Amino acid sequence: MNGKVWLVGAGPGDPELLTLKAVRALQQAQIVMIDDLVNPAVLEHCTNARVISVGKRGGCRSTPQAFIHRLMLRYSRQGKCVVRLKGGDPCIFGRGSEEADWLQQFSIEVEMVNGITAGLAGATNCGIPLTLRGVSRGVTLVTAHTQDDSSLNWAALAQGGTTLVVYMGVAKLSEIQGSLLAGGMRNDMPVAMIENASLPTQRECRSSLAQMQLDAHSFQLKSPAILVIGEVAASSQAITLAQTA
Ligand code: SAH
Repeated sequence: MNGKVWLVGAGPGDPELLTLKAVRALQQAQIVMIDDLVNPAVLEHCTNARVISVGKRGGCRSTPQAFIHRLMLRYSRQGKCVVRLKGGDPCIFGRGSEEADWLQQFSIEVEMVNGITAGLAGATNCGIPLTLRGVSRGVTLVTAHTQDDSSLNWAALAQGGTTLVVYMGVAKLSEIQGSLLAGGMRNDMPVAMIENASLPTQRECRSSLAQMQLDAHSFQLKSPAILVIGEVAASSQAITLAQTA
């Protein structure tokens, strides 16, 4: 009998942002394969599991995706309950669907569990509403990083009127800034850069499209960070967030 693989979103960092379903999967897990953006604190829920780190940073530069695939297959064929734990949501720049498709070819049962994606948590924790009546009618989640170096249609994004949330953008600030300006976005468009969203180490840097690269440099912005670009990025609502004690 094959085991099952849960593809679980661990959320952006704050362990209290885990879903109840994620906790249930972790409690049942015998094997947990964890990415490096996952806060290890969430592992308190898996009392009986062997934890395997398959992160791309850490010690080795990269755990090849094919190796991760084979490992999930091997353990599930041994009848084990496997949790593949990913930062944020498994399907937002997380390869969750690739992993699910691959396992399903071998008739392995897969269940996906949503997590709160970093862009949502970062914005909320800084008091930024990603949509706002009369101001922003939508949100576009984009990554500045592509495997094949293909480019996004930045001009369309610049003029789309939605809030942009950029993932994996820290190393590409100048390209993002240049492309949006060239695409016709106002140079005083507000920008918020949020590092370590939802963690006690969270930092935010408010800037504008014209200044973002300079400001990020003096702020020493580091990955992981998300960028929120749009009118709403100027807001900092006076909301009290339930903080972890
Ligand atoms: N699946 C993840 C995204 C993985 S891509 C999710 O849904 O959140 C990795 C990128 O996510 C990072 O380069 C960064 O842009 C963003 N990210 C992940 N965790 C973050 C955090 N705690 N704070 C800010 N950005 C984060």
